[in-house]
Amino acid sequence: MKYPRRFKPLLESSTETVRPPDRLTAVFAVCAVDDSACGWGGWMLEGAAASGEGEIPGGERHLPICDVQVCPRCGRQTFRTAARRVYSPSTDQSALLASDAAAADLEYE
Ligand SMILES: [Zn+2]
Repeated sequence: MKYPRRFKPLLESSTETVRPPDRLTAVFAVCAVDDSACGWGGWMLEGAAASGEGEIPGGERHLPICDVQVCPRCGRQTFRTAARRVYSPSTDQSALLASDAAAADLEYE
């Protein structure tokens, strides 16, 4: 597959070119809003923040995320439960090295 050349900087984004989050919030969402819901349950991303001067009390700023709260099985709106966790990055990121190499094989139109 060849990708549009004009999106090359986006497609080759890395942690050197985009600001990675210093904090992620995950929420356990369920598909159980009405009787036709499918009963799916799983973790979704609810927020990402970076340290530094920002709009969040304490100095963080929000980072763009995909936080569409839609059931991946049936497409209905999900309900975000009280089960939530906040995560910080590990100092050991060696598990990501294999996926970083994939960007080197991109071909452009
Ligand atoms: Zn569902």
